[in-house]
Amino acid sequence: MADRVDAGVVQAWLRGFAAKVHDARDELTALDSAIGDADHGSNLDRGMTAVVEGLSDDADPAALLKQAGMTLVSKVGGASGPLYGTFFLRAAGAMPAEGADASEFAAALRAGVEGVVARGKAELGDKTMLDTLLPACDTLEARLAEGDALPEALRAAADAGATGRDATTPMVARKGRASYLGDRSAGHQDPGATSAAMLLAAAAEAVAA
Ligand code: ADP
Ligand code: MG
Repeated sequence: MADRVDAGVVQAWLRGFAAKVHDARDELTALDSAIGDADHGSNLDRGMTAVVEGLSDDADPAALLKQAGMTLVSKVGGASGPLYGTFFLRAAGAMPAEGADASEFAAALRAGVEGVVARGKAELGDKTMLDTLLPACDTLEARLAEGDALPEALRAAADAGATGRDATTPMVARKGRASYLGDRSAGHQDPGATSAAMLLAAAAEAVAA
């Protein structure tokens, strides 16, 4: 169990996210074929594979996140490349080079998510990745304030993210390609909310290891 997020934890987080996306590539693509253009799985798998290939052993935690963000911005098109890229770049900017304690990590996660909000202009309930990320950040901050250690707080945050992901199914999309469908976007789980739940699950697992 880690109460600090050091370079090893960030490496495990990025590798874990890449592995989950790779394993779920077809599921993510199927979700995106229902309400988008069937590329979310391939977009993110390509991007995260490149991120893992580019990881350097001697990079500090902030540099690792920055490298991930720059790779995603440059290698992945569509909405999700720039949005996930922005997430990692903003998180990198808030991440101390020497590693983060629990509250510093929560602040880095919050900075990343605020970057997604600023870039995509979506809100809670718009049926996007933010429906996973925002409740997860809220839960992480609340659990740490209640005195939980980072592994427990992050597990609770990942669970809140998964609940947020599930809540996207009945929503009508108001941002991104899915919004072109109007009311017909309801009844399908959002692909980006689904991959964002994997991002959080990977973080919880990296800290728990
Ligand atoms: P594209 O829609 O360009 O094909 P992807 O399929 O890779 O890109 O990603 C789609 C996902 O991106 C959606 O499921 C949604 O979660 C997320 N998304 C789209 N637009 C926004 C936005 N403005 N803000 C936050 N997330 C968004
Ligand atoms: Mg798509």
